[in-house]
Amino acid sequence: MESIIAKDFNWEMGHRLPFHTGGCQNIHGHSYKMRVEISGRIDSSTGMVMDYFDIKALVQPIVDQLDHSFLCDSSDKLLMDFFAQHSMKVNFIDMYSTAENIAYYILQQLIPGFSSFTSVKKLTVRLCETENTYAEACYEFSR
Ligand SMILES: [Zn+2]
Repeated sequence: MESIIAKDFNWEMGHRLPFHTGGCQNIHGHSYKMRVEISGRIDSSTGMVMDYFDIKALVQPIVDQLDHSFLCDSSDKLLMDFFAQHSMKVNFIDMYSTAENIAYYILQQLIPGFSSFTSVKKLTVRLCETENTYAEACYEFSR
């Protein structure tokens, strides 16, 4: 038997899109909401695809790292200079900090930890930047 399970996380984070002309070029922030969805086989000995406790143990450190930080695109010279001169909580990303890219960035960090849970077949990160929008990134494990 297979099932899909999910756990939701949220955090506050600043960012900007330097190339944007519609407002997102300004420094601003979002209350990000993320759903980590796991699709896989129900382990007959536990009745679970995966323990929610284990999901939290893998995901929460990444959320804590991002919370109340600024996600700085490393090609953003203006802000790279600023953060070089001012000690603040900042994370650097080698791509534009769009919802699509952030979902992918988080997914890449989650894959190694989830790969050791053999019942997990597919991992999906759904990132909501606002209440009405989301981007998804997913990875299928070859078992
Ligand atoms: Zn934004």
